[in-house]
Amino acid sequence: MTKYIFMTGGVVSSLGKGLTSAAIAAILENRGLKVGIMKLDPYINVDPGTMSPFQHGEVFVTDDGTETDLDLGHYERFTNLVMTKNSNFTTGQVYLSVINRERRGEYLGKTVQVIPHITNEIKDRIIKGTQEFDIAIIEVGGTVGDIESLPFLESIRQLKRELGYGNAISIHMTLLPYLKAANELKTKPTQNSVRQLMQIGLQADFIVCRAEVDIEITRKIKEKISLFCNLPYQNVITANDVSTIYELPILLHQQKLDEKLLTIFNLDYPLADLQVWEDIVDKIKNSKVTTTIGVVGKYVELTESYKSLNEALTHAGIKNSVKINLKFISSEDIENNGIDALKDIDGILIPGGFGNRGVEGKILAVKFARENKIPFLGICLGMQIAVIEYARDVAKLKDANSTEFNSKTDYPVIDIMYSQKDITDKGATMRLGAYPSIIKEETLAYNIYEQIEISERHRHRYEFNNGYRDILEKNGLIISATSPDNQLVEMIEIKEHPFFIAVQFHPEFKSKPFLPHPLFAGFIKATLK
Ligand code: GLN
Repeated sequence: MTKYIFMTGGVVSSLGKGLTSAAIAAILENRGLKVGIMKLDPYINVDPGTMSPFQHGEVFVTDDGTETDLDLGHYERFTNLVMTKNSNFTTGQVYLSVINRERRGEYLGKTVQVIPHITNEIKDRIIKGTQEFDIAIIEVGGTVGDIESLPFLESIRQLKRELGYGNAISIHMTLLPYLKAANELKTKPTQNSVRQLMQIGLQADFIVCRAEVDIEITRKIKEKISLFCNLPYQNVITANDVSTIYELPILLHQQKLDEKLLTIFNLDYPLADLQVWEDIVDKIKNSKVTTTIGVVGKYVELTESYKSLNEALTHAGIKNSVKINLKFISSEDIENNGIDALKDIDGILIPGGFGNRGVEGKILAVKFARENKIPFLGICLGMQIAVIEYARDVAKLKDANSTEFNSKTDYPVIDIMYSQKDITDKGATMRLGAYPSIIKEETLAYNIYEQIEISERHRHRYEFNNGYRDILEKNGLIISATSPDNQLVEMIEIKEHPFFIAVQFHPEFKSKPFLPHPLFAGFIKATLK
């Protein structure tokens, strides 16, 4: 029978609940348990695919093509879990299915209500999506006290009672704010947040306290929390800020959180050995050499929108024992002020993106990298930009472009493929999820991957236009990987350059600290020469 950990957050948002869930999963997986994580999102959007990265951070894409919350990225990075469409659901999805059922007449004669119809739908989804696991961590998005998350919390209350203690527990994560005048961490917001949970009928079995300052969370503080929040002293876990997120499994394990959980669940598994995590943290903290990577993009104000990318670069740093100094450069800034911002940079990366803002600046950045032999990695839109630049500057196809940015261009080197042209519904028009590619031997791509068939995740509408393959290849562009039927270009590179490669997919979604992605590892290595 699956055991459940329900993870809630209080006091403020952005506490790192997702990371904590991922870190707990990492320790439990290390002990040999089959762990699953599920994220429940209180917003009404059916999926985050249509939300702006400015609002919601990155859209993470799973192998099965689900566009999800960025927390699912943390879950995959900390574990060997493969997230699927069942790993995340939103209020929008819950209501959509209940309303569809109502329209089909499945509740005939009844008044359809939040309790029990919405809550039953939530409980069903939780149970159905987690049956194969020994332990399932269910993370509820949002903050306790929000109107939106009430149906989720009520469902958890019911589930906890139905499953019984020993099979289901809840962990509540809160903040201990620091007051300078008192030189103290304050527990009152935590007490109030736990009280709010109790009003709903949920007792926190563990409290994980975040504190931003490097002040010890003393025994006295923990005792106070234990007393006021009605839980054993040893179940108050502390999470001071760590210098790298990958330290979190170690921090929680030091406080025996995994042991305490397994005791409650009455499960007997081998002890954890966190040496891999120790090594990862050691590399991140103690690498002496630094390499500076310029990421030229549109969402530079909000680095949350490049979460997986940042992490993949960190992983590549671990692999090469170097510190990564990320410099986010606005492509519009390059448009307006020229390529000065690219000076003193060891490698240039153009990430994925949508819309034509800043595109010309990105083209200038590729040109700069190509001509000055600076290691270059283009991802998704980054590959499309590299193709446009090559078409314009090398193949002399004047004003070549993607039809995404100029539908009337004379040379649409990037275009919507015919099979996609009649689709107009924005929610479902993209090539999404894992697709295989075949790599040509004797290419940089092959050197990097050391295999012929690979699988990578996609999220894009436009593709390399096959009508221009010939002319671009004649001008020296190398198409180093395609789809197995050779219809879609997956990777391009150029000769006589230390490292210039661009890919139509998103390799960053598959990188892990203990399994750095070869493309990023190769890119960072090239920047060190
Ligand atoms: N805007 C481009 C497309 O839709 C690239 C998308 C991306 O970079 N994820 O094809």
